[in-house]
Amino acid sequence: MDYVQDIYPAGGTPALPGFQLAMRLRTSYTATVMNPNELLNLFREKGAYLEGHFVLSSGLHSSNYMQCARILQFPSIAETLGHQIADGLPTPDFVLSPALGGIIIGHEVARAYGVPFLFCEREDKVFRLRRGFEIQQGQHVVVIEDVMTTGGSTRETIAVAQQASAVLAGTGCIVDRSLSPLDFGVPFHSLLKLPLAQYKPDDCVLCRQGIPVIKPGSRK
Ligand SMILES: [Zn+2]
Repeated sequence: MDYVQDIYPAGGTPALPGFQLAMRLRTSYTATVMNPNELLNLFREKGAYLEGHFVLSSGLHSSNYMQCARILQFPSIAETLGHQIADGLPTPDFVLSPALGGIIIGHEVARAYGVPFLFCEREDKVFRLRRGFEIQQGQHVVVIEDVMTTGGSTRETIAVAQQASAVLAGTGCIVDRSLSPLDFGVPFHSLLKLPLAQYKPDDCVLCRQGIPVIKPGSRK
């Protein structure tokens, strides 16, 4: 089943040719807003929309993987997406993201607001603030991810902020690929809603077909 076709049927907004979009991005981010169709085309064009058999960071299996690094490698695009996410959320005192996936886009969202950017990283499988990052009690935080599937990493990141007595003001991401609506109890803003197929590892149609599974971004 092609979920993308279902969500963005033919006859929608025509895609800009890649070079035109790149020109627009270079010229001025403030004048550029990418609609979901353009963003999806950008993913395809940059080889960031992968098809196969993947393990997601949530542990679920899928026939698709959104490799945001492939579009965030272009700083002007990262900056544009950062502004677009920031535009949909209240201005916080700082932005917090989980390493590694959330770092580039979180940094760009923080740049758009003009506030500091912090990231947390796993230590003994638990997200923690390291590197001397400090959160002041009562500071408002926006938590940013690249892709959300179950929202698990985001919830863990929110817990890091709340344990430091920060106040959650909003959450956002580039791609929301959840199958049921994510609810963090605060404003949530994603740029592309793409409810892609996902399977439990012990009940995966692709595993049953004997297709080798790939864990993107990890060592072989
Ligand atoms: Zn599988």
